[in-house]
Amino acid sequence: MAKTALITGITGQDGSYLAELLLAKGYTVWGMIRRASSINTGRIDGIYRSPQRENTHRDARLRLVYGDLADGSVLNRHVKSIRPDEVYNLGAQTHVKVSFELPVYTGDVTGLGAVRLLEALRECGHESRFYQASSSELFGLASESPQNEQTPFHPRSPYACAKAYAFHLTRNYRESYGMFAVNGIQYNHESPRRGEAFVTRKITRAAAAIALGQQETVSLGNLNAERDWGYAGDYVKAMWLMMQAERPQDYVVATGETHSVRDFCCRAFARAGVPLTWHGEGVNEHGVDQAGRVRVSVDPEFFRPVESECLRGDASRIRRELGWAPEHTFDELVGMMVDADLAALSGGRRGAPSAGKRCSNAA
Ligand code: NDP
Ligand code: GDP
Repeated sequence: MAKTALITGITGQDGSYLAELLLAKGYTVWGMIRRASSINTGRIDGIYRSPQRENTHRDARLRLVYGDLADGSVLNRHVKSIRPDEVYNLGAQTHVKVSFELPVYTGDVTGLGAVRLLEALRECGHESRFYQASSSELFGLASESPQNEQTPFHPRSPYACAKAYAFHLTRNYRESYGMFAVNGIQYNHESPRRGEAFVTRKITRAAAAIALGQQETVSLGNLNAERDWGYAGDYVKAMWLMMQAERPQDYVVATGETHSVRDFCCRAFARAGVPLTWHGEGVNEHGVDQAGRVRVSVDPEFFRPVESECLRGDASRIRRELGWAPEHTFDELVGMMVDADLAALSGGRRGAPSAGKRCSNAA
């Protein structure tokens, strides 16, 4: 019989890819969305059309309901009426830097929100499987590299602390009540649908806008931070596999390859065909030097009070036990993001550029 899934955070990057994956597998998908003053379903427009909009196809297997992880009563109601086979908790306040500004709110939604959902499932009594979107930020100031399922946590932000709480409660509900509840310790994963306030998308969008003459320069924060960046479409496959496993287990989901923000920048600008320099000497009022290179500047505004400097995951357990492996390389990821931003910003009139020039002082 076809399965039913409930996804929180369906309007986000991962929620949209996961919904597509589950629909393709024959699931009925319920997505929980928040009420917003303007339409926030852009990422799922390809699979969902509001009944209010005329002459559009609507996939009857994708249904949206209003809700919020801060509101336990609505979570109870949805779980009772939907009785999902699988629940994917992807909803959260997801931005690390913002979590320093909103620590209480982040704790409520990103931490307590997971427990409200677990409680709703426990009270409902229906045997749903539960996936918690945990994060490599749990490791923070990691004691070893690469990190695996045994590496101790040292969270370095209110976001990471909230995710640590949700991680432990997910494990605790598994151990206390025998629930099938699992954590995917996901390393950074990106795509053309990544939010524009995350560094990869900020860079690819800027590179595309500069290439098209729509923007002059870009300011970033810590260029030396290193991340293990994968492709979001690959990571939602890992989520699904974890939920089909015989035994509930927590897994690291990562590529095992690390790049610095500086390196991401170099590759993105090269892909867009924009030569760049990190130095400000001799740049004119448009941020361009005599050799025509665009300056990328560093602005303290984008630094965090403390940083997870270098994160690299060891995904050998999920590879060995569930057969998951990333299918896209780092260069493919950068390429698809830059090309998508070039196409979007040029109104679809521009194709993928040929290999671009190198930056002046790649580190
Ligand atoms: P996004 O920021 O793209 O999406 C977050 C989603 O959560 C959105 O749908 C958002 O809704 C929803 N949301 C925010 N606040 C609430 C709330 N109070 N109640 C219900 N829903 C809410 O994140 P991603 O798709 O990138 O990430 C998915 C999950 O994976 C998150 O939990 C994230 O922390 C985790 N994760 C992601 C990583 C990554 O690299 N992408 C790495 C590790 C973990 P709205 O659209 O209305 O804002
Ligand atoms: P995170 O790993 O979940 O915090 O994802 P982000 O994409 O927000 O940040 C990844 C890394 O890029 C972090 O180490 C940031 O400090 C660093 N970074 C450098 N400049 C920027 C910037 O302008 N914006 C963001 N969001 N991050 C930046």
